[in-house]
Amino acid sequence: MKKHNFYAGPSILSEYTIKNTAIAVEDFAGTGLSILEVSHRSKEFVAVSDEARALIKELLDIPAGYDVLFLGGGASMQFCMAPFNLLKKKASYLDTGTWASNAIKEAKFFGEIDVVASSKEANYSYIPKGYSIAGDSDYFHFTSNNTIYGTEMRYDPDLKVRLVCDMSSDIFSRPIDISKYDLIYAGAQKNLGPAGVTVVIVREEALGQVDRPIPTMLDYRTHVKKESMFNTPPVLPIFSVLQTLKWYKMQGGVEALEQNNLEKAAILYDEIDRNKLFKGTAATEDRSIMNVCFVMNEAYQELEEEFAKFAAAAGMVGIKGHRSVGGFRASIYNAMPKTSVEALVQTMKAFEKQH
Ligand SMILES: *Cc1c(COP(=O)(O)O)cnc(C)c1O
Repeated sequence: MKKHNFYAGPSILSEYTIKNTAIAVEDFAGTGLSILEVSHRSKEFVAVSDEARALIKELLDIPAGYDVLFLGGGASMQFCMAPFNLLKKKASYLDTGTWASNAIKEAKFFGEIDVVASSKEANYSYIPKGYSIAGDSDYFHFTSNNTIYGTEMRYDPDLKVRLVCDMSSDIFSRPIDISKYDLIYAGAQKNLGPAGVTVVIVREEALGQVDRPIPTMLDYRTHVKKESMFNTPPVLPIFSVLQTLKWYKMQGGVEALEQNNLEKAAILYDEIDRNKLFKGTAATEDRSIMNVCFVMNEAYQELEEEFAKFAAAAGMVGIKGHRSVGGFRASIYNAMPKTSVEALVQTMKAFEKQH
């Protein structure tokens, strides 16, 4: 039976990415060697790394003055690296969920953190609005897509300070005005490739402004200078990320991906709103087009287990909600085909007919 992969991360990748990775595991770029056993300094792999960085710049329309890095340590490492490198005295943070609050916790090691607003009291079911940012903030940090709660800021906030953003779960899902940002980071395992590499986009002029000493590996300048080859980069994940980027380009780039994502999300939210058994958990105006969270309606709470089994029997994988929200979460990242979203909707309709 066809499996429909709704995992939140690591998550679905394009068939193109998986096929080309499988081929390279056997024979990488005609070298007669596996991608698993080649030097990161071989000319074939340096070409992969260069092409991947160039494609990220091209697809996201990154202006001059920015560098693209491939780092280890996951997005969670960036929670500490960002303030280590960018926070002089004070920074503003928006608390929209678990990942945002983890970022706040780390930033507090480096300076004064102004949490401008939080939706914690409502279990992070909406994005706070109308907050104000102190003019003397070094930057404003936010999480563009809250993977666990299914809320998303699908815009680049217009503020008087520069932006720093965790885009782990929605990078490449829409065009971005990069010029507003000092730093963007994203763990690859949601919208780019397998786990093990984090993509960092950093504005060169934002670096070198802090007084504190920075350990070599945690200093973005180390990796800028060595083009992400100061130490051994995650070779295989970077190879797979390149395949995904090529596939994104074949799809028509981020505008086309966004259009497709909007359509897929609308199909699923329409069904959640229509079907008497289910309801969405995120505020309507803040609904994510990447992670769609829903629960059983009050009158049908006792059917949760049964629906989970019913959906699994129909080939739906990974739709259990995060333990802090419960219910269900369908992650419908860029690589998720519309047909899989439609299959989930059919499953919801069929389940409704039985009740
Ligand atoms: C998954 C996720 C993280 C954590 O990423 P790691 O690579 O596991 O550290 C951080 N932020 C967001 C928004 C995520 O979705």
